[in-house]
Order: sequence, then structure tokens, then C-alpha cells
Amino acid sequence: MELLTTKQLTMQFGGLVAVNKVDFTIAQGETVGIIGPNGSGKTTFFNMLTGIYKPTAGEIYFLGQQITEARPDYAFRLGIARTFQNGRLFWKLNVLENVLMGLHSRQKSFILDALFRSRREREEEALAVAEAQKILSFFSQNLLQQQDKLAASLSYADRRRLEICRALVSKPKLLILDEPSAGMDPNETTELVHDIRKIREIQPQISIIVIEHDMGLIEGLANRVMCLSSGEKIAEGTFAEVSRDQMVIHAYLGE
Ligand code: ADP
Repeated sequence: MELLTTKQLTMQFGGLVAVNKVDFTIAQGETVGIIGPNGSGKTTFFNMLTGIYKPTAGEIYFLGQQITEARPDYAFRLGIARTFQNGRLFWKLNVLENVLMGLHSRQKSFILDALFRSRREREEEALAVAEAQKILSFFSQNLLQQQDKLAASLSYADRRRLEICRALVSKPKLLILDEPSAGMDPNETTELVHDIRKIREIQPQISIIVIEHDMGLIEGLANRVMCLSSGEKIAEGTFAEVSRDQMVIHAYLGE
């Protein structure tokens, strides 16, 4: 079943067409990789899917509902969660609190003064904490052990993992990962591929879109790959098909 579809999706900044008439679809349970040279429109495409940018033309459908002009909060409530290329953790909050922030739409009260909480809110909070700890323990025992540490004190790789936990805690239908292995060494990247694959054990039907420069990660994760170049979709298929596509090779070599 199709989860998200774009039709002729376009984003223009002044005279620059950053994403040009892109038709894309992802089914439930699928992992799709988006590749392309720098400046090819990958992040802009993500920003439209998550409501950060309003497309200048084209349409986005989520479970059949048109969400082309949905704002980020609404996209989140529908079940679209994302991580950011440069990471956006709350440095002065601890690891557990950072994961809980991923529930912010459901758990607005979490960081309010305890005195003002009703019993029901406290019960909800306890459930949320249990859920956050479950995600941490599943995704990384190491992170769970550090749940009381400030996010700022984590290693770089653990920060990136924490971001994924924060996105997962809301049980999204679609998880969007923006360069999850950026800044990681090859061993850390291999571990990350393993961890991301494991997500399906707890959320079998989740769909994942991942932007990556690391082709090993894309090969290890993606059922299907779309390549963008100068805002246009130039190839789509399995990793093997796309990586031997002449237009793709040319787009990368010509960078
Ligand atoms: P990628 O993620 O593939 O590196 P981007 O989506 O970041 O590519 O950028 C695609 C093009 O759109 C680039 O030429 C970039 O400079 C331009 N661009 C991205 N965001 C903006 C913006 N907010 N305003 C103007 N131009 C932008």
C-alpha cells in the first residue's frame, strides 16, 4: 500500500528550480534511499515532505490525503518524523528528556513544573518515560545507560543515534533520515546500518526515506533508490540498477 506519493513536486527559489517536477512514491514497510550530488535538491525535497517548505507546484499525498500545504506540526501528527542533517538536539536536556521531546505534540506538559500536573498527566508522563526508555534500550543499550547525561556530553555517533530515537518515539509511519551517517567513521556507519535495519523489529510497517552520501549505507538499507541531479529525478531502481546508470555516473563524476 502506498504511504506517500508526490506528483510533479516542484520548489523554486527565485529563478532557481531546486526540485523540478519530481514524481515519487514509497510504500508501507519500504526503505528508499535518495542520492544525488551536492545541491541536487535532496534536502529541499525533504523539507517539502515535512511541511517546512511549501511547494511552488505539484502535490504530496499521504495515505491518500493531500498534504501539499500541511505545516510541520500537522505532518508530524499524521506520522511523519525526521532527523536533521546537522542534528538538532536540546543540548541542555539529558538523553531521556531529548527522546521525550519527540512526543511533544502528545506530551506538551512534560517539561512544565511538576506542581501543576494533574494525576492523569503524571500517569501519561510515566507511560511516556517507559516508552522512551524502551526505544533507547532497543536502539542502543549504551544510550540507555547514559539516559541522565546531557546530550552535549555524548559522542558524535551517539548524538546521531539519539536523534533517531527521538524521531522513533512518536511511532511514526514515515521516518525521514537526513544523512544519518554524516561525520561517522566506517565502523560507526556499519553499526548504524545494523541499528536502522533493526527498527523493523519493533515497527515492521514503518517506511524510511534516507538521504545519504555513503553508498555503503544506501546499499545496506534501501530497497529502492532515487537519484536527483539539478532538482530532477534522473534514475530510480534498485541500488545495483541505479549505481550503473550512465546518467547517475555522469552526475557524480561531473560534480
Ligand atoms: P542537496 O540537499 O541535494 O545538497 P539542496 O536541496 O540543499 O541540495 O539545494 C538545492 C538547491 O537549492 C541548491 O542550489 C541550493 O543552493 C538551493 N536552495 C536550497 N535551499 C534554499 C533556500 N532556502 N533559498 C534559496 N536557495 C535554496
